[in-house]
Amino acid sequence: MDVFEQLAVKQHEQVAYCYDEVSGLKAIIAIHDTTLGPALGGTRMRAYATEAEALTDVLRLARGMTFKSAAAGLNLGGGKAVIIGDPKTQHKETLFRAFGRFVEGLGGRYITAEDSGTDVRAMEWVRMETNWVTGISRALGGSGDPSPVTARGTFSGMQACAKERWGSDSLEGKHVTVQGVGAVGYYLVKYLTEAGARCTVCDVDADNLQRVVNDFKCEVVAPDAIFDVQADMFAPCALGAIINDDTLPRLKVEIVAGSSNNQLHDERHGRGLLERGILYAPDYVINAGGLINVANELEGYNQERAFKQAEGVYDILTSVFQIAKREEVPTHLAADNLALRRIKEIGKVKSFYTNGRQDRLLHGVS
Ligand code: NAD
Repeated sequence: MDVFEQLAVKQHEQVAYCYDEVSGLKAIIAIHDTTLGPALGGTRMRAYATEAEALTDVLRLARGMTFKSAAAGLNLGGGKAVIIGDPKTQHKETLFRAFGRFVEGLGGRYITAEDSGTDVRAMEWVRMETNWVTGISRALGGSGDPSPVTARGTFSGMQACAKERWGSDSLEGKHVTVQGVGAVGYYLVKYLTEAGARCTVCDVDADNLQRVVNDFKCEVVAPDAIFDVQADMFAPCALGAIINDDTLPRLKVEIVAGSSNNQLHDERHGRGLLERGILYAPDYVINAGGLINVANELEGYNQERAFKQAEGVYDILTSVFQIAKREEVPTHLAADNLALRRIKEIGKVKSFYTNGRQDRLLHGVS
């Protein structure tokens, strides 16, 4: 399939190939949809085996951002960038400044942020060439580490799940298993234990595990044993594709609600959760706190406001559950429907204004 054909499949608006000989930059920026506003999405750096693989990845990720921003109620569209290169050896000032110049060239249609393989430092280099970047350190007036805000949104989402399943949003006395106690998982365990929940955690990183065990009262199990623990909720906060053919039959929980991206290995695993009577909080809805945090930077960062907005995940998830029941679809499809409907409706509001204005201009009506 050629590039235009690939853009047509999921209706992407634009793809920009960026090359700089001096720094060795090879990047692809994809803009999926700007109906709601400028396309915001992070820059991922990875040593992709082929350019085709990089293009497939950036198109998929950009579209995902459209849905995530729309569901989160943000006035942002979906976009993403990938840099083809090894973050260990090619993470350098010249490369990110060259990349920043390409972002600047898009005139604000695309706003970047950090993602896997890039970091706050990289975004500060990008910032030297363009203002269309978020995720700058707090010291420079940016939003800094998004993890506490992501965890707060995830925690609020868990409360919405509890309300949906048990009729009360209290998590007191509930048993939650947490896979991965890194940046987000750590804060999530903090909020959960403060709310009176009991946590069982696992991690492959001994230091991260030790930190959480030192700071909070929680039990530890081996990484692979987390799926077999009898509990009320399972919070995936480590890896993608964690709900799969192997893990789905093993889960002994009533709710899956965590911060990981792309939790369903496949579309059918969302339906599988529903069939097993497990309530699933769609990943891109419950983990929107990170995006809300960087979006806040565009209006002048205010952490209190970011936390408050992240708590809005509660109401968004509640709407998703209502749609799922009304339309008799799994929750991950209900989330897509919520996002698509918002894009369509706001798109109409915008075109109504534009068309009305054109009418007035054409017919000389003031
Ligand atoms: P992180 O790298 O800080 O933490 C992930 C943790 O998972 C690490 O401690 C790692 O050792 C552990 N881990 C890896 N493989 C594991 C395994 N097999 N079993 C158990 N633990 C394992 O990442 P993070 O920033 O905390 O993000 C966690 C997840 O949430 C990721 O999927 C990320 O994409 C998603 N997310 C994060 C944010 C954010 O604000 N950081 C926002 C949205 C989504």
